[in-house]
Amino acid sequence: MNFGLRSMFHQNAISYQKDDLIGYIEVPDSVKEEWSRYREELSVLESIKIPRCIKSIHETSYELVGFSDASETACGAVVYLRSFITKPEKLWAFTDSTVVLAWLKEHPKHWNTYVANRVSAIQDIIPYENWFHVPGIENPADSASRGIQPSELVTHALWCQGPKFLLEEEFNCGKPNSVPEEALKEQRKRVKRNFAVLSAVELQQALLISVKLVQQNEFPAEVTLLKIQKSIPVKSRLRSLNPFVDEAGLLRVGGRLEKSKISDGRKHPLIIPRHHVLTNLIINYAHEINLHGSCKVVLAYIQRQFWILNGRDAVRRQIRKCVRCCRFRSETATQMLGNLPSVQVSPARSFVKVGTDLPGPIILRMGKGGNQHDNAGLHSSLEAFCSKMWYSE
Ligand SMILES: [Zn+2]
Repeated sequence: MNFGLRSMFHQNAISYQKDDLIGYIEVPDSVKEEWSRYREELSVLESIKIPRCIKSIHETSYELVGFSDASETACGAVVYLRSFITKPEKLWAFTDSTVVLAWLKEHPKHWNTYVANRVSAIQDIIPYENWFHVPGIENPADSASRGIQPSELVTHALWCQGPKFLLEEEFNCGKPNSVPEEALKEQRKRVKRNFAVLSAVELQQALLISVKLVQQNEFPAEVTLLKIQKSIPVKSRLRSLNPFVDEAGLLRVGGRLEKSKISDGRKHPLIIPRHHVLTNLIINYAHEINLHGSCKVVLAYIQRQFWILNGRDAVRRQIRKCVRCCRFRSETATQMLGNLPSVQVSPARSFVKVGTDLPGPIILRMGKGGNQHDNAGLHSSLEAFCSKMWYSE
C-alpha cells in the first residue's frame, strides 16, 4: 500500500521540481495538505488486527493462494493460506492480466529478452499449470498496486479476507483461451539472414581496410607524419623502407623500383608488422596456396603484395607451426643393414668370385611388319663381388 502512496507523492514532487528548478522553495499547499492527511491517517493503521495463529491440532494440509498485480506506479502481491484436513497441498497463483498469462503459457524463447528473462524466472518457481485468471475486481493485489488510503485499508474486506471464492472448497477458475494482441507485441521476431557469396572486389576491399586498420594501430606516428608530408623519425623501424602513404591512406614501401615496368602493387608493397594476427593469416594463406611451400616460396609470393617487417623470420615461425609440414618433416623408421658376406669384402681378381641374377621372362618383340611376333627372353647378369665389374647377356 505504501508503494502507491509513495509514488503519488513522488509524482507531485516531480511536477513541483519541473516548475522550480533551482533552490529550496516552500512545499506547495496541495502537497502539504496531502502529506498532512496521510500522516493523520497513519494512526488508523494501529486499529488493524490480524489473527496470526494458523496451526491446527489435527493433521492439516495447506494451500497457498497468491494474487499479483502491477500498475505503472507499483507492483502488488498478496498470499493467503488455506488449511484443510483431507486435501492434497497445492499452490494457486492468480493474476487479472491475460497478457501475463499468455506470456507464461509459452516457452521464454518466444518472447523478447526482457519478457523472456522474467517469464523464465517465474516458470522456474511456479509452472503455468498453477496460474489462473481472476477478474480485476476480485483481485486483492489490485489495491496494493493502485494504492489506497490507510482509512480505506481498515475496512477493506477484499484485502483482509481475499475474494469470496476463497471460502469455497473448490475454485471455479480458468485460463483465457485466446492470446491478446498486446502479448504478441513482445514476440521475438525471427531475423531473416541473407547469405551471399562475397565478390572478388569486396574481398579485396575488405583486405585493404583490414591492412589500413592494422597500419594505423601499429605505426600511428609514421602514418600521421607521412600524411602531412613530414619525414618519419630516424629511429623508426620503417626508415630504411622509405615509406609513403598512398591516396587510399595505406602505408607502402617506397623502394627503388619506381621506373620498373612491374605493377604498382609489386613496386610498392603494403607494409605490415611482423607480429600480428593479420600477418599470420596472410602467411598461412600463402603457405597453403603454394601447396605448403618453403619459406622462400611463401615469402616471394607474399612480397608481390605485402612487405612484412623481418618477413623471413615471421614466415619461418609460421611454417614451423604447420601441422602437415611438421608431419612430413618427421623422420621415418629405418632398418639397420646386416654384415656383408666375407667373399664380398675379401680382395680377389675380377670375376673370380661372382654372383648371378636371372630376371625374367622378358617379352621381346621380334621381326618387322607382317613377321612381327613376341618371344619370351631371359636376362642374365654376372656381377663381380670384389669390384664394380658387371657382365650382362
Ligand atoms: Zn605446411
